[in-house]
Amino acid sequence: MTIAIRLSDTVSGIAIISDDGDFVCEETFLPETDYYDLLRQISSQIDGATSQITADLPVTKSPHTALGLCVSDLNYSSDGQTTSALFSCLDGKPLIYDLQAATGLTSAIGNDAQCLGLGVCQHDNEILFSLVIDKELSGAIIMNGSVVHGRNHHAGQITHTPLPFPVPFELDGNICSCGRSGCLTHFISLPGIEKDYKQLTNTDKSANDIIIDAAKGDIIADSVIQVLEDRIARALAPVINLLDPNHIIISGQAADKNRLPAILPQKWPGYIVADKPKTEITIITDRHATCLKGAASLISQKQQ
Ligand SMILES: [Zn+2]
Repeated sequence: MTIAIRLSDTVSGIAIISDDGDFVCEETFLPETDYYDLLRQISSQIDGATSQITADLPVTKSPHTALGLCVSDLNYSSDGQTTSALFSCLDGKPLIYDLQAATGLTSAIGNDAQCLGLGVCQHDNEILFSLVIDKELSGAIIMNGSVVHGRNHHAGQITHTPLPFPVPFELDGNICSCGRSGCLTHFISLPGIEKDYKQLTNTDKSANDIIIDAAKGDIIADSVIQVLEDRIARALAPVINLLDPNHIIISGQAADKNRLPAILPQKWPGYIVADKPKTEITIITDRHATCLKGAASLISQKQQ
């Protein structure tokens, strides 16, 4: 039995997941914004969730119980220091050690892209690349059933990689917080969609409304989404050329399950080396549950 918790700006919650991967119970909560309040809240949520199932399952916080925590945009260095734009109280904190101290549970941490990939991974011999299109773009690599962290702890983090195969002037004016320009997160993200729409219309519109209008047949909104799709294809081309994954997992508001799996492979011949790519595209619409499932898998890697 594993306890999985996900913190995000949309839905946050806790689930207890059986060894068979079944959700024994699941609840949502509003995360605290102070670091120590958040740690106490997580411990309290665990107590509440485990006490709910005590009558049915004899094991609660036994040595076999563990905690996997997914924070949507979490970054953490090899020395365990965390950063999160969504949960700034985590910045510079030794989160995993404090979690273990606060809960008494063996703990592991990850972000949405990592947990999404783990939540989908079914075969240990597969290579997965997961992509989350949100306020920022993020990515992760899953190999042999585990998150690949890499020597610098940045494996798969595609956020600040330049947009490949740019057309003239495409990279202009996209100065990034990282100090470079033309980073993918400026193009493949919800703010990126809104910026493209405004450039065409001089009108502010939310990414959600642009996506809805495109689905209704609005020509300008649809042209913005078509540019986005071409950029996603370009962003994934070096991933396929270098990593050659079995599956690419995409999630987020702009990840259309009807369009992307059909459109991206049509665009790849111009960008990738393989003649007839077999890489499969899977769109995850139930991101919260998939990330919770993946968070539960984080702990099994730690115990390997
Ligand atoms: Zn950048």
